[in-house]
Amino acid sequence: MPVNFLTTPIDYLSGVGPSRADLLRKELGIQTYGDLANFFPNRYVDRTQFHKINQLVPETAQVQIVGKLLSIGTAGAGKASRLVATLADDTGRMELVWFKGQKYFRENLKVNEVYVVYGKVSKYGAMYSIAHPDVELLKDFRGRPSNAMTPIYPSTETLTKRQLTNKYFVRLMRQLFSEIKSAFVETLPEDLMRDQQLITKNVAMQEIHFPTSSTALQAALKRLKFEELFFIQMELLLQNRIRKTQIKGYVLETVGDHFNNFYNFNLPFELTGAQKRVVKEIRADMVTGAHMNRLLQGDVGSGKTIVAVLTCLLAIDNGFQACIMAPTEILAQQHMAGVSELLAPTGLKVALLTGSVKTKARRVIHESLEDGSLDILIGTHALIEDKVKFLNLGVAIVDEQHRFGVAQRAKLWKKNKLPPHVLVMTATPIPRTLAMSLYGDLDISVIDELPPGRKEIKTVHRYDKNRLGVFSFIKDEIKKGRQVYIVYPLIQESETLDYKDLMDGYESIVREFPMPEYQVSIVHGQMKPADKDYEMQRFVEHKTQIMVATTVIEVGVNVPNASVMIIESAERFGLSQLHQLRGRVGRGADQSFCILMTSHKLSAEAKTRLETMVETTDGFKIAEVDLKLRGPGDIMGTRQSGVMELRIADIVRDNELLAVARNAAINFLQEDPSIGLEKNATVRRVMSHLQAKKGLWKYIS
Ligand code: ADP
Ligand code: MG
Repeated sequence: MPVNFLTTPIDYLSGVGPSRADLLRKELGIQTYGDLANFFPNRYVDRTQFHKINQLVPETAQVQIVGKLLSIGTAGAGKASRLVATLADDTGRMELVWFKGQKYFRENLKVNEVYVVYGKVSKYGAMYSIAHPDVELLKDFRGRPSNAMTPIYPSTETLTKRQLTNKYFVRLMRQLFSEIKSAFVETLPEDLMRDQQLITKNVAMQEIHFPTSSTALQAALKRLKFEELFFIQMELLLQNRIRKTQIKGYVLETVGDHFNNFYNFNLPFELTGAQKRVVKEIRADMVTGAHMNRLLQGDVGSGKTIVAVLTCLLAIDNGFQACIMAPTEILAQQHMAGVSELLAPTGLKVALLTGSVKTKARRVIHESLEDGSLDILIGTHALIEDKVKFLNLGVAIVDEQHRFGVAQRAKLWKKNKLPPHVLVMTATPIPRTLAMSLYGDLDISVIDELPPGRKEIKTVHRYDKNRLGVFSFIKDEIKKGRQVYIVYPLIQESETLDYKDLMDGYESIVREFPMPEYQVSIVHGQMKPADKDYEMQRFVEHKTQIMVATTVIEVGVNVPNASVMIIESAERFGLSQLHQLRGRVGRGADQSFCILMTSHKLSAEAKTRLETMVETTDGFKIAEVDLKLRGPGDIMGTRQSGVMELRIADIVRDNELLAVARNAAINFLQEDPSIGLEKNATVRRVMSHLQAKKGLWKYIS
């Protein structure tokens, strides 16, 4: 059976001894022949072009040079120790340098031989050099079947150190494919392949490792990416179907007095159209008898809190309790303040549970939770401690869930007979098509409309040398009665340095804005929570006009009178962070401003970020640019979801193919909901294999 071939342990492959087999397992998770075959190159280089040494310019990216090795020797000592070789062609000389694997290269490179070297050049003084080049004897290079498209396999530091070079992998693949031949079983049905114009699995696997032409390579990439995305979509769609049809949730049918009275008499404002729509969507979920798992996306300030409150009231009207979890203590407190104020006329019982609630008060909360007299519990991580038991939790609302792990969220589920309905709220918007593809097992609601009367925040970019102008602008705004945030970056790796920047900044602000005319607050991560709260509170109560802070104020803080946001070293913040920070202002009736301060030296990417911020305040547009710049790695929850562990496709770059694959999966399941048709046997086999691990297959078959 060819399939078994692919399960052969990697140790049996010629060229893989026990120690290398170990490395492959540990570093790359490659256990079997099949795993190795599925270890794909992450790029290809065109090795048909050559450079001459005297043609090199500092900006040249990757170069390929044929030259004779004139000498080789060690230079420097200790940490600076390196192996340096001189390479010459008929136009000049250059250096090759190794910091790692020196012993290997010293022993294996031969002086006076002609090599093909390939790598990234840099210039030191008058001399060009390549650090850690690919080197290959010219005669070996010529002996290769095709140099048109050399695959480059992903590597790790350990692999490089242990000489498992790209050349080694190329050789290993050649060995592997000479043994397994066409061992791959087709995974896609014929009609689907025909419709999508896809080549077969076997051809694709060959071409991905040994491309015969760039067209053939493109076809192979398309085939393998489609396959990967198609099966992920199939899984998501099936999970969604299972959740809706098989996993029971509480039926919260009644819209009773609490909801109606509040809605009719206590709403502090008219809901926006988007808020109304979202409440309807949530309400519709709750009566189906299925389990709600809904993501609520809404830009900063779009009014998610009121939606959360109305959702809680629906649960309470049906005899259930509700909880709201927030990622930080400050945020939990703000929710507590906001929700209590909203619900004050209703007589409902709301409590706050955070790490700093004292034992005695905590015990009271625990009791009232268990006897059902408490209606809504608001808090931080403290909510999911084992001691916290609800009498009957009907709905759990999670704010800014990217700070909560998926596992932590699951803890809430254990407290009930049935899982509570879950509403996850986030102000980190991601493009809708992407969201649907990523979270196919979640339903999505969007608040895409800001409450009326908001003025667009004016955003500008200023350089450090414009600081005086910025200060006088701040003074003018303070004269008008406004308050100002000044935010400094705090990045883990350089915490001490950042801390120093913050303190230096604070001192210069205090000098520029002296007491008693001005009062300045400061909040940063190294302060005790109580001190932080005290300073925060002074700002909230308008006892201070300026708040100097690190990004601790990023999420949720609500001071409507603050109308100026100054972001220092703005080039060091990510786009979504900048957007979140800007969202701290523009909450009141006054015109608000955001000033992005940077030095003159900006990378192209930083420029794009700043330009985007100046151009738009639309969170979805910003998210789209962010996604393009950063890739999808940091999108909330995606790391944990496992969805993003893609071998070959890239959610961002292959966005169009993703949509195609999703539609194909939808059509497929429409035609064959139970995956039972004879012609779809291949898909059934792959799916049962994928889902066996998750125990979901029993629902389908
Ligand atoms: P976020 O979505 O960022 O959590 P909030 O729920 O904190 O937003 O709402 C931001 C501000 O807008 C609050 O002061 C809130 O009272 C106000 N707000 C929310 N919805 C409306 C509305 N429909 N009309 C007027 N103001 C609203
Ligand atoms: Mg909020």
